[in-house]
Amino acid sequence: MIKIIVVSYTLFLLSTPAISTTISLMEWDLIGHDWAVNILRKHIQQQNVRHAYLFSGPPGTGRRSLALVFARAVNCQQPPSPGESCGTCRACRLISSGQHPDVSILEVGSDSQEIKIEQVRELQKNLNLSPYEARYRIALLLDFQRANPNAQNALLKTLEEAPPRVILLMTADAPENLLPTITSRCEILRLRPLAVAEMVAPLQVKMNIEAEAALELAHLSGGRFGLADHYHNQPEEQEQLHTWLQELFELLSQDLGPRMVYAEKISEKRRKGESRESTRKILETWLLLWRDVLILNSGSQMPLTFIPFKAWSNQVANTLTFQQIAAQIHNLEDALEQLDANINVRLLLENVLLTWPQVNLSLHP
Ligand SMILES: [Zn+2]
Repeated sequence: MIKIIVVSYTLFLLSTPAISTTISLMEWDLIGHDWAVNILRKHIQQQNVRHAYLFSGPPGTGRRSLALVFARAVNCQQPPSPGESCGTCRACRLISSGQHPDVSILEVGSDSQEIKIEQVRELQKNLNLSPYEARYRIALLLDFQRANPNAQNALLKTLEEAPPRVILLMTADAPENLLPTITSRCEILRLRPLAVAEMVAPLQVKMNIEAEAALELAHLSGGRFGLADHYHNQPEEQEQLHTWLQELFELLSQDLGPRMVYAEKISEKRRKGESRESTRKILETWLLLWRDVLILNSGSQMPLTFIPFKAWSNQVANTLTFQQIAAQIHNLEDALEQLDANINVRLLLENVLLTWPQVNLSLHP
């Protein structure tokens, strides 16, 4: 058995040249989305850049990263070849750090739920000026599905009569969530998550991390490079997920007493000003874990989210029935809906934890 493991590990090491082949195919220093890069590069090479592009897809798929690399490629001062960016000139550096005077970013303000018409009007004033130093003035409109209809309508004017040397780059979860009058005037690039298995080797090289860490990130992000990059750069968030999952397994092996204490502890933290969002994130993390348990119980080939917890998830999956596991998923989905309806958080957590069966784990969390 051990020999087999050693042999496969050696084979893995021997196969590293294959990784660099994969990486050389990585376009514009991104992982995946080669087809979209090819389209964008061609537009630059043929001097046929559109006035507006929409990068759509689930959050974390790399919509913003692709838009920014495109912004670099159109404005690079010393492109190594047509349609490429050097990454080191003044324009490339300023765009990467979000400080280029000709690149404006428009997104939901921290004190708001939506993009407002005033923000769009302010942006339009900027766009009517010639670029200070770049070839193109670029507006990056993030999550534009969050613009209210007035704000979307206001942008139409710019889309219909775009000033010369202006490019609008929009991101959204789905084109269908924008006004059709907007999407019909954009070149739409629909980005999808990558296959988890295909993402591991490129992640390992790009982020300079061990194979195990890359595997964990690929699963955790569900094939979404932007999300993998986020967790890689915010290790404390990944750490927090681990804590919530350890707590879940501890609570599962405990009876009602400690569970009620936990519900009280979390709801008190909230009263002390910890945001409502943290309770939501705990519930969402637990929901993903129960989904892993269901996948293991059903023998499905779908990728798990939390690889480091696979052994424990497996034990739970082998102890409970499919119906019991599915019931926990429904309960958590209900709880998340109730959280939106402003229900008392302690009561909500108690209700969730009351329904959990007690599972004796032989590995201690
Ligand atoms: Zn450059």
